[in-house]
Amino acid sequence: MKALLTVDEALARILDRTTPLPTEVVPLEAAAGRILAEAVSSPIDLPPFPSSAMDGYAVRAADLPGALILVDRVAAGRPSARVLAAGETIEVSTGGVVPVGADTVVPLEQVVCRGERIEVPEAVVVGDNVRRVASDVRAGAELLAAGSTLTPSRLAAIAACGVALVRCGRRPGVAVVVTGTELRPPGESLRPGEIYESNGLMLAAVFEAAGAVVERLAATEDDREAHARSLERALKADVVVTSGGVSVGPHDLVRSVGAELGVEEVFWGVAMRPGKPVAFGMRGTTLVFGLPGNPLSSLVGCLLFVRPALVALQGDPDPAPPFRPGVLAKEVRRRPERDEFVRARLSWSEREPVLEPIGGQESHMIVRSAAADAIVHVPRGEGSLPAGAAVRYLAL
Ligand code: AMP
Ligand code: MG
Repeated sequence: MKALLTVDEALARILDRTTPLPTEVVPLEAAAGRILAEAVSSPIDLPPFPSSAMDGYAVRAADLPGALILVDRVAAGRPSARVLAAGETIEVSTGGVVPVGADTVVPLEQVVCRGERIEVPEAVVVGDNVRRVASDVRAGAELLAAGSTLTPSRLAAIAACGVALVRCGRRPGVAVVVTGTELRPPGESLRPGEIYESNGLMLAAVFEAAGAVVERLAATEDDREAHARSLERALKADVVVTSGGVSVGPHDLVRSVGAELGVEEVFWGVAMRPGKPVAFGMRGTTLVFGLPGNPLSSLVGCLLFVRPALVALQGDPDPAPPFRPGVLAKEVRRRPERDEFVRARLSWSEREPVLEPIGGQESHMIVRSAAADAIVHVPRGEGSLPAGAAVRYLAL
């Protein structure tokens, strides 16, 4: 028997064949979670004017301590027309323009007001409570590099500089085809031999969170013509993901019907558990993933292989699954031939994430897996990993 690919080899073959999609200009409102195709620079200094960090009084530090005459009041967005002269002060709100002539803001709490006479009992340090022009960013400076994922705080940074449009990688269209004559949608009643279809929803949720535009086709019977109809339609997308029907049984039709439709297989089978019979191929530029139908096999396959391809298509320079370091709460036996992906509960000791494998690791046990919040990578090898062993995990 031919040796199976390792997980890393399989991912490398996928990413080798994944080139970023064309880019497009996107309004900031629609850019959350997307990946920048070009760097964004600030067209302005930020703050654009000397801005007060406190509600207080704009002063000349050299006048203090002492009593000042209140000559004007300014609110945020309503600058004063006056230039501050010696012995004067102007009331200013947080975010208000510090008037020309002033160099410092004294917080409200530190003054005594007697009508228009403002007494400041203590000396102040020049520049206190004044946000200098361009102290956050200077006009022309780069805010974010190409390849950055637009998190909420990064979107805010771009908006704060007044930029309304950004260039991003196009979102890939993904067609999800679940196969199996036994599958019934939730909400209907089961006939003998049927089970509820659960993979389609799970896969769609993972892909949408990764920025894809998902089309879910109706569940497809284990019949060559039904497969051909569904796959032909799905193959118009950038990415096709099937569930079920990729093993060696007589009703496993995805690979052979795919081949008839012109899908060229790149690999079938990866040395991992669950999810060994995963298939990957291409037709033209369309990436075609065949995930096994067991729910946990589908989940692990989509996180290890499909999600990285989806973010790479959008231009993510670092598309590999975001594994993080942690330690095992208890001993886990290793398999000599296959990497294992073990569902675990995640908690925190004082220093590190601790991963406690849940009971019920069989690949059909989707309900038991609902207790897990991580998937731990247990590399193949002899013997076992002891409690406390360093491992890597993917958050669920
Ligand atoms: P298969 O990969 O088609 O041999 O399916 C393996 C197992 O997963 C069988 O027990 C199927 O009934 C089950 N299965 C396949 N597809 C789904 C699905 N979409 N939702 C839930 N279970 C499924
Ligand atoms: Mg099946």
